[in-house]
Parts: sequence; C-alpha cells; structure tokens
Amino acid sequence: MAGAFWGCGSPSGKPGAGGIAISFDDHFIKEWYELRPLFQKYNAKVTFFITCPDSLKAEEAAMLKQLEKEGHEIGFHGTVHAKSTELMTAGGPKGYIEAELEPGLRHMNAAGFKPTSYAHPGGNHNGRVDSVLLAKGFTTLRDVAISRRKYKGFQLYAWPPRWMNAIYYIFDGEQKVDALMIDYDEVTEEEIAEAILEAKENGTALMIFGHEPLYSEPKNGKYGFNVSFLAAVLREADKQKLKFYTMSELPKSNN
Ligand SMILES: [Zn+2]
Repeated sequence: MAGAFWGCGSPSGKPGAGGIAISFDDHFIKEWYELRPLFQKYNAKVTFFITCPDSLKAEEAAMLKQLEKEGHEIGFHGTVHAKSTELMTAGGPKGYIEAELEPGLRHMNAAGFKPTSYAHPGGNHNGRVDSVLLAKGFTTLRDVAISRRKYKGFQLYAWPPRWMNAIYYIFDGEQKVDALMIDYDEVTEEEIAEAILEAKENGTALMIFGHEPLYSEPKNGKYGFNVSFLAAVLREADKQKLKFYTMSELPKSNN
C-alpha cells in the first residue's frame, strides 16, 4: 500500500465482465447468516473470510455450509489473527505456518471446508508471507484499502473510490488484490455508485469488504458497516447488471 496505489487513469479490464466482489472478515457468522434474504434478493454471491476457526461451533459450521451451498465462498483469515510479518520474523516460515495457518486450517478441514482464498489479518503481510500462502495453495490473497485515512482527528487524504485503481480487478490473473473497506460509514452511497459504474464501464470488478453488520451508523472505532449501505451497494450492482464474483473466482476469470 504505497504511493503507486493511486492513479488517475481508469484501469481497463475485460469488456462485459464488469462485476463486484464483496467479502466479509472475522467471525460474525450468525450476523452474516442473517443477511441471506438480502443476498438472495439480488442473487449476490460473496466471500466470508473466517478467523479463529478453533472456536467454530457446530451451529456456525452448519450456517457456513448452507452459505457455501448457496454459492458463497468460505475463505480463511488466520488461526490467531496475528501480524503475519511479526510471526515470520520471530519464527520464519515454519513458525508462521505452525502458528497462523495449520491449526486453523485443520479445524476448517474438519468442518468440511477447503479454503482457497486468504484475507490478511489487519492487512499485514510482506513478500515472504505471500510466498508461503501461495505455496500452501491459496489462489487469492486479499489486502485492505481504506479511502480515508485519519490521524489524531486530522484527515490525511480522502480519495473517491473511483480513483483507487487497486480496488478494481482487471482480470489479468493477479492473485494479490486489494479491497476497499466499507466499515465506519467512510464511503458514501454516491461514491460507491460511481465506483460501480466505473467497474461496469471498464469491464473490471470492484472489490469491497467489511466486518460486522450493524443496523445503525457505525460508532467510532467499531469495525462494522451499516447494513443499509450494503443494501444500497447490492441494489446499485443489480441495477447496473454487475456480475457477482467470489474472491477465488477472480484470478480464474482470466482470459
Ligand atoms: Zn480481521
């Protein structure tokens, strides 16, 4: 996430492939499950990145199975949700794999899931971490993009999502991708509608993600998005006839 992240030109993808890839992180399984009527209304397919699968209750595993059956993807988001670069520095690839990847994957496998996409906890990673994840068989690695950065109350920058090249998938087979965070009410409905139109016109896929579904304005510091905002996103995507992609489908949709 450096300066090269931003650009003024419109990324171009594949004509007619315009779409949207929505994902959700952490462990709000019951809360996500309650969004099913909304997903069904727009025939939306999304990706759920699960962390701490060692605490996966049978009831939660059943909900994830049902979501998978309905076309959604179940991805992995780490065993302990740690800073992967620190685990890598402390224990090398072996230590990282044994702490963050293998125990959680064993739980996921035991519950009947074989995740092929991975979301970096806290957006923390480096080249070594990525190499290990790709070697472990993950085909999509998702990072975090935030449109407004605030530091001690001061706004450092505020780029409209339509200017953030990194959040549009251009169907080039790339396995390392960024998604725009929709928590905190930081992106307006007008901005997301523009971003959706951009994806439609350029044949790219807009990538967005959030954490906990909330039924009011997210309060400061809470990792959550307003469900009414998600509803607006789905409504607009449907209106523009965007395709819904799960995260593992993106690199596979390369022509
Ligand atoms: Zn997370």
